[in-house]
Amino acid sequence: MLKAYKYRIYPTKEQITLIEKHFGSTRFLYNYFLEYRQKEYAHGNKKVGYMVTQAELTKLKKLKEYEWLNECGSQSLQMALRDLDAAYSRFFKKQGEYPKFKSKKHTSQSFTAPQNIKVANNRVYLPKFTKDGIKVKLHRELPQNSVLKQTTISRQNNQYFVSILIDDNNAIPKPTKAKNAVGLDMGLTDLIITSDGVKYPNNKYFVKSRQKLKKIQRRLSKKQKGSNNRNKAKLKVQKLHTKISNQKKDTLHKISNEITNQYDIICLETLNVKGMQKNRRLSKSIADVAWNEFMRQLEYKSEWKGKTVLKIDQWFPSSQICSNCGASSGEKELNIRKWECPQCHMKLDRDINASINIRNYGLGQIDQRNTIVKNTVGTIGN
Ligand SMILES: [Zn+2]
Repeated sequence: MLKAYKYRIYPTKEQITLIEKHFGSTRFLYNYFLEYRQKEYAHGNKKVGYMVTQAELTKLKKLKEYEWLNECGSQSLQMALRDLDAAYSRFFKKQGEYPKFKSKKHTSQSFTAPQNIKVANNRVYLPKFTKDGIKVKLHRELPQNSVLKQTTISRQNNQYFVSILIDDNNAIPKPTKAKNAVGLDMGLTDLIITSDGVKYPNNKYFVKSRQKLKKIQRRLSKKQKGSNNRNKAKLKVQKLHTKISNQKKDTLHKISNEITNQYDIICLETLNVKGMQKNRRLSKSIADVAWNEFMRQLEYKSEWKGKTVLKIDQWFPSSQICSNCGASSGEKELNIRKWECPQCHMKLDRDINASINIRNYGLGQIDQRNTIVKNTVGTIGN
């Protein structure tokens, strides 16, 4: 993305003289070629554009009368012609007024250097100011890895400034059809919670089956080893295990079908299940939920149906951030199910809030991957 940063600069007396020469020369050329183009148009020559004026400039600089133009950076001089051309374009497209002559008396004066810019050691370097650079006060740092595209030096009320246009190498965020995207969170009281507020209940049937399982396991332990009764009891336990496992899978299949039918982009966290199973209080619910099995189903069904599954690293603090305003209110104990955001006072449900955050985070990732950076240079205002 292109961004402009503006800083105050502190040029030396010598540098001020040279800066003022740049203001004067670029203003002179803007006015000179405005008159030139007016005359040409008046004579019916409508093909006069930037290229014609640039060729004229080259001739001009060779004349003794205009020798002083060579004291300024040639790119900056050409920028004056580009500015004029842009003003004409806006006028022709009915987006702006007819270009006006620039006045020496205007409180704001500026010139632009489009290339060979460097910022280092609190100094800004540009053509004709390469020796010592101009002292600059960077009240905020330029983003790392950014590419300097263009700088504009200006004077406003006897103070000097530099505007630096940079490309931060980040993709331009693109609006995504959020209605087709969903974030999923795994709950404890509920099995799965969606960012649209749908809660899939943790099937009570599991609890019944589990209680039954405990009972027959207790019976099994009382049977004599090697006895017929023991073998029968063993078989009962195995059958119940299979039944529970199938019940779980069926429930997960129903949910994964519904979700892959309804949404195009499915965002979810890759939970650190092993780490969580160390926590005894959680382990039973985790085993029931079978998050990994659910992810597996989502992935292959999404592949069939041409949908996208976005997995988000488990460190993402989905329960700490307010999904409404983005404020972070820190870690919360698991028994805290609802709270009010201290920033925007929105009443938040732990699981729904988390799933909205997961959806938003996933969409952010997809935007960065899919967008091509538009590498156009605009002009910066003063
Ligand atoms: Zn908030």
